[in-house]
Amino acid sequence: MRTPQKGNIFIISAASGTGKTTLVSRLLNRNKDICASVSHTTRQPREGEIDGKHYHFVNISQFEHLINQSAFLEYANVFGNYYGTSQESVEQLQNQGYDVILEIDVQGAEQIRRALPESISIFLLPPSFQSLSDRLRGRKTDSEEVIDKRLSEARNEIEQSLLFDYLVVNDNLDEAENNLLHIIKSNRLKQSNQKQFIENLLENS
Ligand code: 5GP
Repeated sequence: MRTPQKGNIFIISAASGTGKTTLVSRLLNRNKDICASVSHTTRQPREGEIDGKHYHFVNISQFEHLINQSAFLEYANVFGNYYGTSQESVEQLQNQGYDVILEIDVQGAEQIRRALPESISIFLLPPSFQSLSDRLRGRKTDSEEVIDKRLSEARNEIEQSLLFDYLVVNDNLDEAENNLLHIIKSNRLKQSNQKQFIENLLENS
């Protein structure tokens, strides 16, 4: 019987409006061996968001307390709110054999790359700026002022995509989801991820 190997960490970043959340939730629904880390944030919950599922919603002093306890693998201020990834929960999921997705911004991605060089980073690109702007307006969650801010920020974020290992264009949802899955699966097959299996195989030869 093959023991499950420790899961890999996949950073997924994108400019807002690229469809990252939709894509990641499709991927998770169809692949029970992949999961996403639930971040902490000081942002107010949006309609339909559930505490503990979409985010752990905390206030600033709770967030600062967690920073002081070194609870975060990374944290950043994004659009005026804090977001952070819990080190303990990521490790637990990895040890259970899950591949763990960190849906985080480019600042967080940079911190994870430095702290965990073995992590794999993926940047999702929109097919065009027009599609980005259409999507931001279509989802009707942000004011015009916030949308303008997000669009100008998108340029800076997309420039940083060159620091990522993989680039996936989200033009067609099925194709983008398939591409993400290929990246995740091919990393599982890396020799470095199968050392334990080889050892067990040889031990029982
Ligand atoms: P939203 O508020 O729209 O859910 O997320 C805003 C941005 O914060 C997105 O780019 C999202 O990926 C990013 N984000 C969510 N969780 C984290 C986190 O734990 N760390 C960092 N650095 N960014 C995060």
